[in-house]
Amino acid sequence: MSTTFPFENTYATLPAQMFTLIAPTPVARPDLIVKNDALAEELGITFDLTDLAEVIGGNKVPVGADPLAQLYAGHQFGHWNPQLGDGRAILLGEVVGQDGVRRDIQLKGSGPTPYSRNGDGRSWLGPVLREYLVSEAMHAMGVPTTRALAAVTTGDPVYREQVLPGAILARVAQSHIRVGTFQVYTARQELAASQALFEHVVARHYPEATSPLKLLDAVIARNAALVAKWMSVGFIHGVMNTDNVALSGETIDYGPCAFMDDYVPMKVFSSIDQMGRYAYGNQPRVAIWNMAQLATALVPMMPDQDAAVEAFTESVNRYPALYEAEWRRLFGRKIGLEDAQPEDDALIHDLLGLMAEDGADFTNTFANLHTDAAQDQFANREAFAAWRDRWSARQDDNFAEVMAIANPHVIPRNHQAEAVIAAGVAGDFAPFHEMLDAVTQPYTPNAKFAKAPVNSEVVTRTFCGT
Ligand code: AMP
Ligand code: MG
Repeated sequence: MSTTFPFENTYATLPAQMFTLIAPTPVARPDLIVKNDALAEELGITFDLTDLAEVIGGNKVPVGADPLAQLYAGHQFGHWNPQLGDGRAILLGEVVGQDGVRRDIQLKGSGPTPYSRNGDGRSWLGPVLREYLVSEAMHAMGVPTTRALAAVTTGDPVYREQVLPGAILARVAQSHIRVGTFQVYTARQELAASQALFEHVVARHYPEATSPLKLLDAVIARNAALVAKWMSVGFIHGVMNTDNVALSGETIDYGPCAFMDDYVPMKVFSSIDQMGRYAYGNQPRVAIWNMAQLATALVPMMPDQDAAVEAFTESVNRYPALYEAEWRRLFGRKIGLEDAQPEDDALIHDLLGLMAEDGADFTNTFANLHTDAAQDQFANREAFAAWRDRWSARQDDNFAEVMAIANPHVIPRNHQAEAVIAAGVAGDFAPFHEMLDAVTQPYTPNAKFAKAPVNSEVVTRTFCGT
């Protein structure tokens, strides 16, 4: 018996300059940490424990795989980098799930590729456990995201500031095609590759998009909805470079990402984001900047460049209205309004203003807003009581039901993830499994995992996965 995937690969048939065929580099002693049976079933994958760790570890290439590393480029913190690419990840191939959707199966941390630059192509255990927890939590909260299929420790050391245990994550995505995947061919003036990529992306994600302009419109609509969703759960991506923006509209590349505990509108966690470019409150603006880069990358495909620039600019300029409508809908639901209207914006903003002033816990304030516990989040109880009177006057009968499915009780909090990682490094994965169980049932009250950190537990900095 062996682990099998119903591979049906298409990226490997695209023009050869778009990727490098390369197999994962074997590891010493792959050992399974976790597997996602439900996801495997949805994708038609059969796990077999006799070789699953070898497959995820990259020691055994499964039948039907066409392992490759994808080329892309990107703007990192606003600076153009002409060549990035999968430096520590390898695409095994694609499967079409029970829902008819094609998805990539990728190993992350699977060894060096021609795009590794100075990196070792590896990942240590911490980022693997973190991405597993956060991506599965995001999925459970209904946020479009890459998924986690399985993870192993490799038995090899990884050298960072310390020596750490190596690990590999098997990741699933509707595709790993990024804004930076278009950017690289535009920069190199390789129009045939741009055209092939365009046709691939349209067939795969946006069959309704019959032109580059329509593709841009469609990506913008999904991205605006995605970023509004992030905002509604207090998620900070942390490294919204154009190479980390998936055209599928999924959240991708969980590096220094974090969920906020107390509500700070310009909250930043990432140790490398010194200017706060990717602060919580900047995410919608940065997303528009990223969409403008996609527009720029698509323009050369159009026959009339001047007309294209005008039309593409208009498309990007529609982002704020799309985002605001989605933001209103989602935050309206967080206070129990099924169909919030522009005149409700003040009610939402005034609550957020009080939360910011008093450092209220973002998740717990919304989860408990209709209970007596809510006022404990506010130092200025009178101001909150006055807000609550205005809110009562606006409530419909079903507000509590609307709130119950709009407000998670459990998010993957930093301090809990760090404790789980520390235990994992010491060889104990029981805390990881316990936390995974909690974060994948986000709407279920949970005394342990819904707890905000006490002062001594607060995590203020997060780090890139490298
Ligand atoms: P990221 O900031 O994680 O999106 O990564 C940016 C680029 O650096 C991508 O091209 C990655 O593949 C590459 N990279 C990150 N970490 C490593 C590593 N340990 N080895 C090789 N390449 C890496
Ligand atoms: Mg990346």
